Amino acid sequence: MRRKLAAGNWKMNGTSAALAELEYLALQHPAPTVDILICPPSTLLTQAAAQSGSIAIGAQDCHANTSGAHTGDISAEMISDSGATAVILGHSERREDHDETSEQVRAKARAAHAAGLTAIICLGESEAQRDAANTLDIIAGQLAISTPDTATASNTVIAYEPIWAIGTGRVPTIEQIIEVHDFIREKLIERFGADIGDAIPLLYGGSVKPSNAAEIFTVANVDGALVGGASLKAEDFSPIISALE
Ligand code: 13P
Repeated sequence: MRRKLAAGNWKMNGTSAALAELEYLALQHPAPTVDILICPPSTLLTQAAAQSGSIAIGAQDCHANTSGAHTGDISAEMISDSGATAVILGHSERREDHDETSEQVRAKARAAHAAGLTAIICLGESEAQRDAANTLDIIAGQLAISTPDTATASNTVIAYEPIWAIGTGRVPTIEQIIEVHDFIREKLIERFGADIGDAIPLLYGGSVKPSNAAEIFTVANVDGALVGGASLKAEDFSPIISALE
């Protein structure tokens, strides 16, 4: 049985007042039967990790190096030191806003693994790429290059987030989700063998809401969700967690 994971990506949202939502969420899920992860902005990591109870805390990016002259960046070791246990890497917003390449994502994932963090590696096609029937090629390339050889079932999660579904209210059809998730599973088994390849959790992300989560979670190779907007409020995220349980 693969681990199930409900992960929330707060993106660049939330000051310390937002920690009340985390506290509320933890109260609603004192003994969850799935893993719950919240990834707040890095300014809140330490505080969040100190008071998150049953909920794990993750960061949204890390540098590939352990330390040095990289103004504004944080290392995987620093994230681990904050009490966080995971880091989102290669989100399409970072690939776009910061021109991050899959090679850089792989280096960051290696650093995350070396620091004992779970790397949540994000993949996803643009609308133009899907319209040109290039989705599987794009996913194959991003997956192959972004995933380091150090990946195991306990230190790596892959998140499929079609760019056109992020923050738009548009969700792929169930058939489209099945196609991509089955394809990622196949590629992971091909590369890492059945033991590891079959055990790495796969998340779907992009406009996941309380109203569509249950249907998305019926897909065999969907092991959870990476949720943006609907993870900001406990009243929205809680039913998504419950749909996964
Ligand atoms: P939304 O759930 O807001 O569409 O964002 C998805 C996402 O980018 C999570 O990383």
